[in-house]
Amino acid sequence: MELSQRDITYCKNVGTKRADILYKELGVRTAMDLLRQYPYKYIDRSKFYKIAEIDDEDTYVQIIGEVTEWHTIGIGKAQRLSATFNDGTHQCELVWFQGVKYLKLQRGVKYLLFGKPSRFQHVYNFVHPDLTPWDKVTPEMTQGLEPYYNTTEVMKRHGLNSKTLRSIIAELIPDLKAGVQDTMGADVLQKYRLMSLKDALVNVHFPKDTLSMQNARARLKFEELFYVQLQILRQMKRREQNPGFAMPLVGSRFHALYKALPFDLTGAQKRVIHEIHDDLKSGHQMNRLLQGDVGSGKTLVALLCCLLAVDNNYQTCIMAPTEILANQHYETLKAFLAPLGDAVHVALLTGSTTAKNRVPIHNGLMNGTIHILIGTHALLEDAVQWQNLGFVVIDEQHRFGVAQRAKLWTKNQLPPHILVMTATPIPRTLAMTVYGDLHVSIIDELPPGRKPVQTIHYDIKRRAQVYSFVRKQIQDGRQVYVVYPLIKENEKMDLQDLQNGFNELCEAFPEYKISMVHGQMKAADKDLQMSRFATGETQILVATTVIEVGVNVPNATVMIIQNAERFGLSQLHQLRGRVGRGGDQSFCILLTDFEMSSETRKRMNIMVETNDGFRIAEADLQLRGPGDLEGTMQSGTPFAFHIANLATDGRLVALARQAAMDILDQDPLLEDEMNRIYKRHLDFLRISQSYNWGEIS
Ligand code: ADP
Ligand code: MG
Repeated sequence: MELSQRDITYCKNVGTKRADILYKELGVRTAMDLLRQYPYKYIDRSKFYKIAEIDDEDTYVQIIGEVTEWHTIGIGKAQRLSATFNDGTHQCELVWFQGVKYLKLQRGVKYLLFGKPSRFQHVYNFVHPDLTPWDKVTPEMTQGLEPYYNTTEVMKRHGLNSKTLRSIIAELIPDLKAGVQDTMGADVLQKYRLMSLKDALVNVHFPKDTLSMQNARARLKFEELFYVQLQILRQMKRREQNPGFAMPLVGSRFHALYKALPFDLTGAQKRVIHEIHDDLKSGHQMNRLLQGDVGSGKTLVALLCCLLAVDNNYQTCIMAPTEILANQHYETLKAFLAPLGDAVHVALLTGSTTAKNRVPIHNGLMNGTIHILIGTHALLEDAVQWQNLGFVVIDEQHRFGVAQRAKLWTKNQLPPHILVMTATPIPRTLAMTVYGDLHVSIIDELPPGRKPVQTIHYDIKRRAQVYSFVRKQIQDGRQVYVVYPLIKENEKMDLQDLQNGFNELCEAFPEYKISMVHGQMKAADKDLQMSRFATGETQILVATTVIEVGVNVPNATVMIIQNAERFGLSQLHQLRGRVGRGGDQSFCILLTDFEMSSETRKRMNIMVETNDGFRIAEADLQLRGPGDLEGTMQSGTPFAFHIANLATDGRLVALARQAAMDILDQDPLLEDEMNRIYKRHLDFLRISQSYNWGEIS
């Protein structure tokens, strides 16, 4: 029977109880499912060490030698056994805390010792090592790389440890060798020099040597990435065929704003507007990602594109992740649009819009008099009905789930054009997965005349120096941000920190006015404090990360980040982007403890070295791994990877995407006979629970 049909219950060493646990803990139902549980590490059992050769703690080693002496310490449950092991030239210590009474050590017998050493006062210790009399050592035990498998507490309680899994899988290998249906076509295997599935599965579990293990893993990673790309790209191809509102006209409002701008658009802004306009007039629905570093002028691009739609008699909306940001967009847009008088009607809808104020907004949306609606999640409420919504801008979308994005569709007969804007530059390979179903436009140029922000890293002992610098800047008429970290789990303590910091600053700067904002404040209070700072009434703004995105006060030239070690790189970069928005030289001061981890030091160094958001995003990915990228993965992609790693397998991501693209270019719906394996496996993956592909809109 095919391995993918064979119930795991009837495999050797399994049975109903274990099968039940394997299913509950790992989702394993069939023999093939188990073969798809790849080892998380390997230990080289072909290598024998001398004690003198051990140079690293925490890596497993095996040594041949004798037990020369042992004694028990303590009594009853607390008893432990301590032994001395000698390899002929040196000795080390072995310790057992459990099962002491079952241990039968013998003098003058050759043993194979296997375990993980740790060093204590020049002597290596092994806690609970495997100790096997040499005459019981089988050739298999010391052959090649030994695979280790992830297990859970529940599994271990039922004897399903790594060793047991290894033996269950070993029993399946002969049948695997007899043959298994490949999931990749022969041409792809050949073109990308990949192992067959059969060889890859054999060698991922029981590799001959390191090279075949690596090749096996590369093949399995490629396959995993390939199917994700195949799914994403097939979705994209389908969407490209979606009919969409045609907006061919470049009309009077667009031209009026363009003429009224106090500056020229950058080349990058112009190019991106052209790309978007090409989509708008195509008659197909646009799904485009607009990437650009902080301050690159995305908001203006979004506004001009909204006007393209409005001139073609469609309504538009801009969705922001926070109220502060929605308010700010509203103010910014109104200021830009002021020269146009009544020609464009903008409204704001957020969670704090009162019921009374909602009525005219709902009416205006229904009768088409509102051209641009700015808001938060409130825009998704059922009460919001449009006359003809044609163009949607989603700002900082990784905070909106993909499913939420889809919700806008239901509000229309045809789906509106969608422009997703993000100021968090994403490494290319990650973008291919997280935003792989979108076309991408990049603003890779800052408006002229900007002076790069100068970044300095200080430890908190130099606070006095920082304060006198702040004073000088304020005397020159500038303004200052001071940001404190705020994490959910620890909100109370953090708010206390913020309050203390505020008090301290009030004492240090009695001659100046200071605003404070944080997420727990009522929206109205927050707005009041923000606008006091924005209008220059207060000189210092003390805040949590609520000011992270979008806030725009060009006169602010200093960003002080307290406890900078508690922020991720991209967050630090976002915060820094709040200054350097006017013509004056700006500064970002990162404050940390004097003592810090090497990872923190690396992060601070990167910030000091570069202002390039893409470089920072790359470094972030390398330092933290993709799973951690501030929710990007959680809400941005429904894919969980079993073997591929987006942080380190970038090259494979690009190759797998290319391979998938080549196939879909020929056969977008995978209807050809020769592409049947792809369609089949894609369907299999869809219904197996590992991927929640239904969520892709
Ligand atoms: P982003 O949203 O990409 O971070 P913004 O749209 O907030 O950037 O733009 C930052 C600032 O630069 C704003 O004050 C905006 O008015 C200004 N700006 C935008 N485009 C230009 C340009 N081409 N030349 C000069 N200033 C610009
Ligand atoms: Mg912005």
